[in-house]
Amino acid sequence: MVRILVAGGLGFIGSHLVERLLRRDDLDECLVVDNLWTGCPQNLDHVLDPRLRVLIADVEQASFDGRFDEIYHLASPASPPWYMAEPLRTISANVIGAMRLLEVLAPGGQFAFTSTSEVYGEPQVSPQPESYRGSVDCTGPRASYDESKRCVEAMLFEARRVLGVRVKVVRLFNVFGPRTRVDDGRAVSNFISQGLRGAPLTIFGDGAQTRSWGYIDDIAEALERYFWRDGVDFAGPLNIGNDREISVLEVARYVQGFFPGTPIVHLAPAPQDPSNRRPDLTTARRVLPGWRCAVPYEEGVVRTIAWFRAEMGLEDAAPARAMPAALSAGAANAHRFATSRGVGI
Ligand code: UDP
Repeated sequence: MVRILVAGGLGFIGSHLVERLLRRDDLDECLVVDNLWTGCPQNLDHVLDPRLRVLIADVEQASFDGRFDEIYHLASPASPPWYMAEPLRTISANVIGAMRLLEVLAPGGQFAFTSTSEVYGEPQVSPQPESYRGSVDCTGPRASYDESKRCVEAMLFEARRVLGVRVKVVRLFNVFGPRTRVDDGRAVSNFISQGLRGAPLTIFGDGAQTRSWGYIDDIAEALERYFWRDGVDFAGPLNIGNDREISVLEVARYVQGFFPGTPIVHLAPAPQDPSNRRPDLTTARRVLPGWRCAVPYEEGVVRTIAWFRAEMGLEDAAPARAMPAALSAGAANAHRFATSRGVGI
């Protein structure tokens, strides 16, 4: 039987990954460690599986009981305003977090890491294949995120080379969908929460910059297949994302269409905002035959608006999430949670 540790498992992508891990028959225990910096207990509140335990702690300092056969390191903010507000903490979560997690990997275990398309910086080639080494400014405003992801990639590929650690590294391109925080601050979620509040949609600069947005279900499907389901023997790095490239202005206009009368305003460009981003998915198609982003971006936005509407308490049918129920007294599954550095029981 398998013991699994997911760092950042209460976050947007982490919680989707945990749900899929819990479908495994060979799973004995899934321990989530999360400090609630950007993660939310509610993301797994509906899960009643006794194999799931949650430890509320910084991954760097957490004490774990024993070792884990599989470790998934997703403990990091991913939204520019969040990581730029606390850059040293971002570096620590990624880099020191990875160091700490490597210490508790069982011999022969697998260490999986969610890296980012940010390793490509301001790309000089499009689309970006994994072999492209990127154009990143290590003194720039995005460096805490970009460079710490790069450093963890370096750490893992060196651990693989000198220690034989089994690693799997994905580079995620922009992901959106349900469980993004309302105050996340990234483009799609910002536009939707602004539209729902009747506030102007804010575009940084002229909006001609592009991204390639992947819907969470498609991205989680790729992660599940690559990390465990398909028995893939490939360390990566592996680009995962949608290769349909769209401008920020187009996204804003599309979202605006759901909120008639809501204006679009142009604010100052974000510093060192990458002008373009699009994954070369040649490797992904070889490693994960048949996988593709099946949910069109338009449909993903519709689903995300519905989720945000409920999340913001704007629909009678769906409960608002004012209170982190899993942490409140009497919550059905509060037993899973621990707030100390010990492991929850
Ligand atoms: N962006 C924007 N308005 C917002 C949030 C983001 O115009 O309210 C732009 C941002 O400047 C960037 C793009 O949207 O060009 C994607 O930003 P996001 O924060 O979603 O992701 P990242 O920059 O990390 O790719």
